[in-house]
Amino acid sequence: MSAVSNPKRTPVFRLLTIASSGIGSFVLGLWGLKHGLSDSFAGISADMMVAMMAALCALAASVAAMSFFAGVDESADFVFEETQFDKLTGLLARPAMVGKIAEAACATSRTGEPVFLIDVDIDRFKQINDAIGYSQGDELIREFTKRLKTCLPQRAVIGRIGAGEFAILLPDNQVSGSLESATERLIDEMMEPYELSTHMQSVSLSVGIVAMPKDGVDPVLILRRSNLALQNARASGLGNWSVFHAEMGRVADHRQWVESELNVAFERGDFDLHYQPQLDLPTGRIVGYEALIRWRHPERGMIPPMEFIPIAEETGMIGPIGEWVLRKACSDARHLPEDCFVAVNISPVQFMTKDFVGIVRDTMTSTGIKPSRLELEVTETAMMQDRDRAATILKQLADMGISVAVDDFGTGYSNLSYLIDFSFGKLKIDRSFVSRLDTDSSSGAVVSTIVGLSRALGVSIIAEGVETESQATLLRAAGCEVVQGYLFGRPAPLRFRVGDAHVTDETRRVANLH
Ligand code: C2E
Ligand code: CA
Ligand code: CA
Repeated sequence: MSAVSNPKRTPVFRLLTIASSGIGSFVLGLWGLKHGLSDSFAGISADMMVAMMAALCALAASVAAMSFFAGVDESADFVFEETQFDKLTGLLARPAMVGKIAEAACATSRTGEPVFLIDVDIDRFKQINDAIGYSQGDELIREFTKRLKTCLPQRAVIGRIGAGEFAILLPDNQVSGSLESATERLIDEMMEPYELSTHMQSVSLSVGIVAMPKDGVDPVLILRRSNLALQNARASGLGNWSVFHAEMGRVADHRQWVESELNVAFERGDFDLHYQPQLDLPTGRIVGYEALIRWRHPERGMIPPMEFIPIAEETGMIGPIGEWVLRKACSDARHLPEDCFVAVNISPVQFMTKDFVGIVRDTMTSTGIKPSRLELEVTETAMMQDRDRAATILKQLADMGISVAVDDFGTGYSNLSYLIDFSFGKLKIDRSFVSRLDTDSSSGAVVSTIVGLSRALGVSIIAEGVETESQATLLRAAGCEVVQGYLFGRPAPLRFRVGDAHVTDETRRVANLH
């Protein structure tokens, strides 16, 4: 933290104060010496004169010293104000809040009376701030603070501990009704739109709660735990809240372990690709393979992609990992049947990186793969982050002859208008619809609608996660002829895929071939 100094007490100001007093004393002294040479002056004896001079000098010096120390005191007050209070809102700043938590922890350890620490964070505040501009962002924070004060009991201690993050200390006896209903009321009220000078701004919140002394009394630990609860609430969707429990700590520890280990794993070569066939039902022919990453840790064994891909996305490791996947899949393609393509999953973070198209182009040149043999699987959410950029990237890929499949189709964005603007070649019906096909008739209707949509748009269709024969039959009846799932083959290493070119008797039977 940079040193804070009082602008009213600059070094120049202090120098002037001390120098003027000092010079005053000095001149007074000289004057006294000059006139003290004679025996008396204006009837006052020389000795008396010297004594008076000395007294005046001492007075001037003490005024100088007082002025100096007053400056120091004022500066100390100023530094205190600056570091303890948040300038924008006047609420307690983070260090002061840590102090208040420590005080509350002491009290609760003595009395056993629970105190809650409530961590309230405005979802995606950074994006809001970027979108509406910093001065509007500041106005939003001020309005938010004003409302927060009115929504909380008087004895609540409030601090601003991050850009859009607030901490509230609330003794149990100040909570009206249950903690659950009080929190929900607070979230509802705080999520009402804010009237800013230029527009109405909506926000959503995530809230994490810890209880002292039950969840600990160390202020730093308490803050970490309330934030863990907050992250947990956010992971289950925006506008949620959750109360800390020990499992969250274990999840966070595992997360931290994955984060620190990803780099090492990449360098050590722990990663491999498995391939899962995609099959054309009417002919029983394998048309392509989806490449799926596998991490085999030397001590902990297989770690599923859903456990490390999101972390790699957050830490930026998805860049090198994703590039490795693309390169390996393209070079593995030469061991797969000539008429099959490889489908590579592209993370939203990767898709939106500056030089994504350049990386694809380089990989194609260095591995010599034909564009018709490469398919990229991209989710709707990846494309919706920045529609214009996504449309440009998709167009560039289409111009290069590379097909893009919309992965997990049906689970993401509900407004389908983007389908018209984007150049893509395939819709991949999400497993969640396929798995309910046997039991839930509305899933059948969804599948038929998606098939109709793909026809209207002139793009191909595939269903993933096909596990039973009846699902395959229903899909085929709905007009979806290309499928992927455990029923036709689990993901397996490349060496098990090399002999895949022909259709096995089992596949023939399952696909109703004669
Ligand atoms: P996804 O793209 O939806 O991949 C399909 C997932 O469903 C795979 O899980 C696959 O093993 C599994 N699956 C396939 N058929 C069946 C079935 O019949 N039943 C069931 N229950 N599951 C089936 P996996 O390999 O664990 O991958 C999970 C997710 O991780 C993938 O979902 C994808 O989003 C991500 N992922 C995997 N590999 C990569 C990669 O190389 N790069 C990126 N960015 N993401 C990857
Ligand atoms: Ca996929
Ligand atoms: Ca999927």
